[in-house]
Amino acid sequence: MFLHGTARINDKGHLEIGGCDTVDLAREFGTPLYIVDEALVRQRAREFREAFERTGLRFQVAYASKAFCVMAMCRLAEEEGLSLDVVSGGELHTALKAGFPPERIHFHGNNKTPDEIAMALDAEIGCFVVDNFVELMLLDAMAAERGRRVNMLLRVTPGVEAHTHDFIATGKQDSKFGFDLESGAAHEAVRQALERGHLELIGVHSHIGSQIFEVEGFRMAAEKIMNFAVDVREKWGRTFSVLNFGGGFGIRYVEGDRPLPPGTYVQAIADAVITACKASGYPLPEVWIEPGRSIVGDAGTTLYTVGTYKEISGIRKYVAVDGGMTDNPRPALYGAKYEAVLANRANEPASETVSVAGKCCESGDMLIWDLPLPPVKPGDLLAVFCTGAYNYAMASNYNRIPRPAVVFVRDGAADLVVARETYDDIVSLDRIPERMRKQAVNR
Ligand SMILES: *Cc1c(COP(=O)(O)O)cnc(C)c1O
Repeated sequence: MFLHGTARINDKGHLEIGGCDTVDLAREFGTPLYIVDEALVRQRAREFREAFERTGLRFQVAYASKAFCVMAMCRLAEEEGLSLDVVSGGELHTALKAGFPPERIHFHGNNKTPDEIAMALDAEIGCFVVDNFVELMLLDAMAAERGRRVNMLLRVTPGVEAHTHDFIATGKQDSKFGFDLESGAAHEAVRQALERGHLELIGVHSHIGSQIFEVEGFRMAAEKIMNFAVDVREKWGRTFSVLNFGGGFGIRYVEGDRPLPPGTYVQAIADAVITACKASGYPLPEVWIEPGRSIVGDAGTTLYTVGTYKEISGIRKYVAVDGGMTDNPRPALYGAKYEAVLANRANEPASETVSVAGKCCESGDMLIWDLPLPPVKPGDLLAVFCTGAYNYAMASNYNRIPRPAVVFVRDGAADLVVARETYDDIVSLDRIPERMRKQAVNR
């Protein structure tokens, strides 16, 4: 069994995280429950920052908040010296409400609405990552209305795509994101950005994929981006002061996943940039990255209560838990794999293989196929590991299931950072038209 961060098995044979017995957490906060190992999140943040400090480069590590965006997480990111990426008005609002310094917020997205741009301009965020020509014009016009000049990066597609162990060098133009390097769209975007009076083009951004276990894709992207930067300087006389290489650093979900230490990715990117700068006499830029999953992913654990089971003789045993695709849509969305243990009997050897089903009305609502476990009984607690990223963030109310609570655990204490939704929360936005009302709807 692989335990992440502070997770261990205590004297009672219970899974413990952050010094908290998960059986006690289930009793106190109910299930399903997202548990975040705060020390592990902080450790990951520090690993990225310390790796940059060793390179001597100026840098920003921007937490991609889409992975898990709640106010306490924004506070934690600030405390750890991270910047913050947002991709919507909702994420921006969360960060601002949490008191995150606006100058360290970067705004992404391929369709920022005028309202969202207005919000970000009025909050005076640090930087817009401009995705397309429509946005370029809109942002310039809206900055002009406010008599402002705003920092921007151009999002470019460098023709490198990476996913886990595969990376491919393509002239891939077919993406909804960014300006294509090969076709000349990126050069045209530079020309337009420099011509506009209210945009300060400080650099470029690329994001090559997710759950990447190799440095090669980042190295290739860094080379392509540096070539582009050198071209831009020759052609337009503009020197970039920021190169942003996005996120996508892999984590260990299941056996066989072999992520590199954060420092290895950082070192490879830094080496490629420094080498290219030396070769071309380019002034060393600031390097930014945007880890999401690799900051919070393995620090998260979801605790469920086992309910029913069903054995189909000679085929398989289904064990159902009190959550499912509503709190973790990743297995249903893209076949994501997870590991899990019985939190209340974590020492017992596995003796059967079961498949873990959620409680939603979808056959596809399966969390884990073929999981070895001790004999499972109703009332047991199942802990699914590595659910810190893209779980709460993607949770839904399908079947009107309330979203779980989230707790941060640390040094034996658990702090509630998101309350469990109630049934009344679920109906709180519903309205019944006057003509359909009956007397006693209030029960
Ligand atoms: C999703 C995304 C990230 C974060 O990706 P992870 O795989 O969670 O590290 C960073 N930057 C951009 C632009 C993204 O779209």
